[in-house]
Amino acid sequence: MGEQASHEKREREEARATEGAGAGQQPLLLGVIGDPIQHSKSPAMHTAALEACGIAGAYLPFHVKGNRLEEAIRGIRALGFRGINVTVPHKVEVMSCLDRIDEGARLIGAVNTIVNDEGVLTGYNTDGIGYIRSLKEEAAPELKGKRVLVLGSGGAARGIVYALLQEQPGLVTIANRTAEKARELAAEWAHLGSLSGCGMEELDAVLPGVDLIINTTSVGMHPHVGDCPLNARQIPEGIVVSDLIYNPLKTELLRQAEVRGCTIHSGLGMFIYQGAYAFERWTGRSAPIEAMRAAVLASMHQ
Ligand code: NAP
Repeated sequence: MGEQASHEKREREEARATEGAGAGQQPLLLGVIGDPIQHSKSPAMHTAALEACGIAGAYLPFHVKGNRLEEAIRGIRALGFRGINVTVPHKVEVMSCLDRIDEGARLIGAVNTIVNDEGVLTGYNTDGIGYIRSLKEEAAPELKGKRVLVLGSGGAARGIVYALLQEQPGLVTIANRTAEKARELAAEWAHLGSLSGCGMEELDAVLPGVDLIINTTSVGMHPHVGDCPLNARQIPEGIVVSDLIYNPLKTELLRQAEVRGCTIHSGLGMFIYQGAYAFERWTGRSAPIEAMRAAVLASMHQ
């Protein structure tokens, strides 16, 4: 091929690559890193969001092992990615590879969203705020003054409790199988609100006064779908019961709560809204929630 022809071919390829992105704009490059990653629903959800907003771009899954994490993060700058999501097991380790960490993510101790502003990488945690947005929109619009019981004190609980405390609840009790971990978390964030920690065996004294129960333990998750973190008789009638688990969509806890006349809330909303906050940070646009929800549900049924 002559020099002129090859130059024209290159120009055509560049034009095709930016087609639909607007004059002079590059397609928006996004992705998610984790190990493993093939099960992730994030690519289906964000691809649907980009399409619904008419934004030219791509969101791809990348299988990154721990020993390549730093290289992968440097690649964000080198390749001009606008941002990525970070999932298990990199949410904590990735923090040391970033230029800035948002205050909430620093206190929670984990990052699930990175934004690239012209080479400056900032880490955020959208899990907790995503959960609270979903809870308020789908089940409990007002959290101020409410008495909340959080079951579990692992990684997900940290994000939930931190975001919950911004809503000024009346009292948050954290109960965990390993009681010491619940007490430690309550002591760590005592300055942020009214918090206490206890063991699961102390729940009979706590449960009668609660307005909302949030399960952040993995009890009841596929394949152990018959397991429940509480005895059904312990669930107060008519309150709100929420479960972070979204496989299955209706856990045994939610099934039992429904029988007792409670409003129930599943973990699917948390997954969608953590993605919505990330999408809004990357694009500056409102996330198309219903398109994202439909894409996740469709990918779950595949
Ligand atoms: P994690 O850090 O491993 O914490 C697990 C928690 O569950 C701990 O408090 C642990 O208690 C408790 N637990 C585990 N097995 C138990 C049992 N047999 N009996 C009583 N307690 C038990 O896990 P994580 O990252 O926080 O995730 C927790 C759950 O949240 C998972 O089901 C995950 O799928 C879900 N999640 C959902 C979303 C979403 O988008 N919807 C996002 C993140 C996580 P000990 O401290 O005593 O071990």
